[in-house]
Amino acid sequence: MSPNPSPPTLTDASECVFDGRILALAGGVGAARLLRGLVRAVDPTKLDVIVNTGDDRVFYGAFVSPDLDIVTYTLAGAVDMTRGFGLEGDRYDLMDRLEALGHETWFRLGDRDFAHCLHRKLRMDEGVGLAALADELRREHALPCRLLPMTEDPAPTRVQLDDGRDLHFEEYLVRERSPANVSGVDLSAAKAAKPGPGVLDAIANAEVVIVCPSNPIVSIGPILAVPGVREAIEARGVPIVAISPIIGGAPVKGPADHLLRASGCDVSALGVATLYRDWIDGFVFDEVDQVLLPAIEALGLHAIATPSLMKDIGVATALSATAVELALSLRSAEAR
Ligand code: GDP
Ligand code: CA
Repeated sequence: MSPNPSPPTLTDASECVFDGRILALAGGVGAARLLRGLVRAVDPTKLDVIVNTGDDRVFYGAFVSPDLDIVTYTLAGAVDMTRGFGLEGDRYDLMDRLEALGHETWFRLGDRDFAHCLHRKLRMDEGVGLAALADELRREHALPCRLLPMTEDPAPTRVQLDDGRDLHFEEYLVRERSPANVSGVDLSAAKAAKPGPGVLDAIANAEVVIVCPSNPIVSIGPILAVPGVREAIEARGVPIVAISPIIGGAPVKGPADHLLRASGCDVSALGVATLYRDWIDGFVFDEVDQVLLPAIEALGLHAIATPSLMKDIGVATALSATAVELALSLRSAEAR
């Protein structure tokens, strides 16, 4: 990965391919990598990002919201680029000491990251909502786009293993290191949650919807599971373009393969396109999977194969521009 680029500024919007409002659906690392490019390809003040909160959990008394923080820290140029999460240069004194004192510390938080998550929990205990706190943080980092938690209700994603265990998503991902023997994914908490503040407004104002190359099952899945969200996106009737997180039949990072398989989907760009086909219009996937183009088009989708491994900000910006341009071409085709 390239070093942290400087955060976007409004002058970056001068090269933008579109100046209408854009809505992005986002998980953590895959989304954050794309969003660093998207804020350069479009006017970032007109970008609203709905972020998954299915991974959220209280650890050591601090409220951890992994995807919100990954996206915020990445866009702010403050993320630990080697891990893809946490703050660059953060120390782990608190974790080391807790461990020495005999506590379970499988979820490791850096000291400054911990302070931020503890601050969030203290403010939430005073009655401040997650959305207001997410907005406070993005203002602190002078980010021009809005970051909207999908819900403020607890909506933990649960993962079932074939040995009968039922785990919080972070237990599955971090403590158990994402084993392959997944038998099911439970989004019932998201299905009982209310959309977060600003979520339905952002959908109602979107001219284009971009689905980040995030885990389809545990990042995009929970957002769509919140009652009213998918319905509002579909009812809006604007072009929806998704980017594949699967390249050459495998995730770039993370357990999307196990989770897709457990959900009955093929681990391929075609598998993701098939999963999304009922509600998206366009699909962008990697050039190494070019042979899948006819099959993806046969699903009724407008599709483009292009470099999508975001090893640097240039690829992320070009990939974002391709996705937005595909959406705009669908919009003008519809208008004709
Ligand atoms: P998480 O919440 O941190 O797991 O992040 P996301 O759900 O947003 O993203 C996870 C997905 O991002 C994985 O399935 C990866 O395959 C995908 N991903 C990560 N980096 C890239 C990349 O450079 N290009 C593409 N196309 N997908 C990526
Ligand atoms: Ca996540």
